[in-house]
Amino acid sequence: MAPRGVKEFLRATTCASRNDRAAPRSIAVMTGGATTWRNWGRNQVCEPAAVTDPESELEVVEAVLAARTAGQTVKAVGSGHSFTDTACTDGRMLRLGRLDRVVGFDRDASTITVEAGIPLWKLNQQLALRGVALTNLGDIDRQTISGALATGTHGTGLGLGALATMVREIEMVTADGDLVRCSEHEEPELFACARVGLGALGVITKLTLQVEPAFRLHSVEMPMRLDEMLADFDRVVTTNEHVDMYWFPHTDVATVKCNNRTDAPIRAKQGYKQWRDEIVLTNYLFGAVCKAGQLVPSAVPKLAQFVVANIGRTEKVDRSDRVFCSRRLVRFVEMEYELPRTEATATLLAIREFIDDEALRVAFPIEIRVTGADDIPLSTGYGRENAYIACHLPTGTPFERYFRGVEAIMDRVGGRPHWGKMHFQTAQTLAPRYPEWSRFQAVRAKFDPEGRFRNAYLDRVLGELP
Ligand SMILES: Cc1cc2nc3c(=O)[nH]c(=O)nc-3n(C[C@H](O)[C@H](O)[C@H](O)COP(=O)(O)OP(=O)(O)OC[C@H]3O[C@@H](n4cnc5c(N)ncnc54)[C@H](O)[C@@H]3O)c2cc1C
Repeated sequence: MAPRGVKEFLRATTCASRNDRAAPRSIAVMTGGATTWRNWGRNQVCEPAAVTDPESELEVVEAVLAARTAGQTVKAVGSGHSFTDTACTDGRMLRLGRLDRVVGFDRDASTITVEAGIPLWKLNQQLALRGVALTNLGDIDRQTISGALATGTHGTGLGLGALATMVREIEMVTADGDLVRCSEHEEPELFACARVGLGALGVITKLTLQVEPAFRLHSVEMPMRLDEMLADFDRVVTTNEHVDMYWFPHTDVATVKCNNRTDAPIRAKQGYKQWRDEIVLTNYLFGAVCKAGQLVPSAVPKLAQFVVANIGRTEKVDRSDRVFCSRRLVRFVEMEYELPRTEATATLLAIREFIDDEALRVAFPIEIRVTGADDIPLSTGYGRENAYIACHLPTGTPFERYFRGVEAIMDRVGGRPHWGKMHFQTAQTLAPRYPEWSRFQAVRAKFDPEGRFRNAYLDRVLGELP
């Protein structure tokens, strides 16, 4: 039996399960009759008054009506991969894990219709079986499709908006227990807003997504000097389809990953080599470095030097979703801000200066991505070509000084926080950053006048309903 210290170390540096595909993304445990729910990052906890696991639209309707009768609020929850308390509730929690089926596929229109609780990894498998794929994805596939849409989850690529831009039709249960279908042609105002709805407009039960023929990506990732990366930023993001950059605080090193479409055959590590590189080195070894940094914060700069000294060039060709998405077994908390693309490099330098001035110890790299503009009222990408800068810290590390400092820098450029990642904004500070704020609020007031779907997070970021 492993000594207690070793077990705690492993628990702290890795996920609970070796096979994350089968593991619960969020946790709900019964404690003395109550259910305690925790998110993936382990920084949000709540005790819902009731928990329901509906298996059909009808059961969602029944749950919403039961909550109404009991005077409870309702919160749908996906995989618990948000870092904010967006999925928390003291009312009735609807876990949608059992609504995970594909219910329609139209090859001519290139659309797929799925239940709202399907996780992205399962959706990707189902798409691959049909020879199609989503145009873009974020960097993991553990989220449910409806959870990912609700917070404006995005990938990277200047020509592409958030995942929500792929939605063609939504079915949802509204506050009165009505099942409402919306699209560009039917209830268009609801549709416009519900694509990034923050869970505020109703419980999505089903949605139709645009897909395209399956494709492969050629991925090249390599380290480079930070100043070179910054100088080359505009050229790199405009000449590659998907670019993901990481800068390692306390070093002058960044990595740049470019993914581009290719017809070349699959060329990717398999079996032991894949496990060694993607699980052991990228996750367990990195997790151990993070843990060491938490135990001895003054060692973080040296540990960062150790990490960057061991980064090499990697290259592969694989199915698109296998390239977009990676395994993340080290738990962390994250803040991510969208900002105008033209401000990206200066903002990253300002963050570097802030970390140095405050002598912060930041063990996690800072990620930079880009996306195109979209037209969704509460999408962070609304109306402008943008960059995203994301700061992470291992779960358990005090984050407030770092995140508040970064947020102050983002405020100067009108940054919009990812709805699922930590931030300290309120409705008052957010409203001026979204030109169609009042459009969303009008739809919310129409479809949820009594605040059936409200929670503490929505009260903070959207304001309380009258
Ligand atoms: C390791 C990691 C990597 C990540 N990578 C990325 C990334 O690359 N890009 C990015 O943009 N984000 C990323 N995220 C953030 C993540 O995509 C979002 O927080 C997403 O919302 C999580 O989806 P979920 O299924 O866990 O939803 P939850 O966190 O469970 O819920 C999020 C919101 O969705 C609402 N919701 C869920 N289901 C429904 C429904 N059926 N109807 C109405 N509302 C619903 C909930 O009420 C809640 O408000 C990452 C998060 C983690 C932990």
